[in-house]
Amino acid sequence: ATATESLNAPKSIYYIEDNPANVNLMNLIIKKAPNLTLSTAETAEEGLAAINKNPPDLILMDVNLPGMSGIEATRNLKQNKATAHIPVIAVSANAMNRDLEKAEDVGFLRYIIKPFKVDDVMNGIAAAFGDAPTSIELSAEELSALSNSPAAKPKDASGILSASAVEVIQNTRAVLSEPYVDTLKNMFVTIPQLHEEMTSAIGEGDTEKVERLAHRIKSNSATLGAIELSEFARTVEHRAANDKMSDLPNLLVEMDKEYARVTPAIEKLLNS
Ligand code: MN
Repeated sequence: ATATESLNAPKSIYYIEDNPANVNLMNLIIKKAPNLTLSTAETAEEGLAAINKNPPDLILMDVNLPGMSGIEATRNLKQNKATAHIPVIAVSANAMNRDLEKAEDVGFLRYIIKPFKVDDVMNGIAAAFGDAPTSIELSAEELSALSNSPAAKPKDASGILSASAVEVIQNTRAVLSEPYVDTLKNMFVTIPQLHEEMTSAIGEGDTEKVERLAHRIKSNSATLGAIELSEFARTVEHRAANDKMSDLPNLLVEMDKEYARVTPAIEKLLNS
């Protein structure tokens, strides 16, 4: 039986994730299993309150969240008698080895790496419900992908997008069809809007907002395979987090150029 077929009993899943695009994507995947229901929150604070009131069968936790991090939130859940038993699966693009070690201490059941694949999500859920081994597992391929620098990662036929991200998109599209492509298109067209909001937030000196917006651009562009754009956003996110705002306007100009550079490749990919 496949992971999807073995999920017979109704189960509730709670996903804490600050990027609406990833929430949409998760919704599309979860809908494939009629017995699963998904509730979501954009912050750990909001999610913990909801989970304490009404504990779900499984929690999917974005590691990188504004305010309380997914690591802190999971520690909090594991220290609380009412929620300690609930399996928590970490969902993160920031899967550096250091983060993985931290994650193991915290007691995550598994680690799903963004951009997530349908199979990874379904296998993770199956593992949580006792249908598969329950431990953090990374394939050799995933581990080596994590240790390479983004710029060194293999590119697709366009020479611009990440080959592995494009592969995930093509495989996921085969399962989720048009609603998935619409989600990706939405991720892409949102980037200039986020960019504009970020410019305003820099003008206002709102570092927290800049960090949040950069985080969202990082995630959207990584999902679309625009690795260099994602790296720009990561740099902006880190600078904002460390109150180093003075260089950001220049960096944003470079980001804009990179967005223009990747646009034809992404449009071709999504419209093919
Ligand atoms: Mn996040």
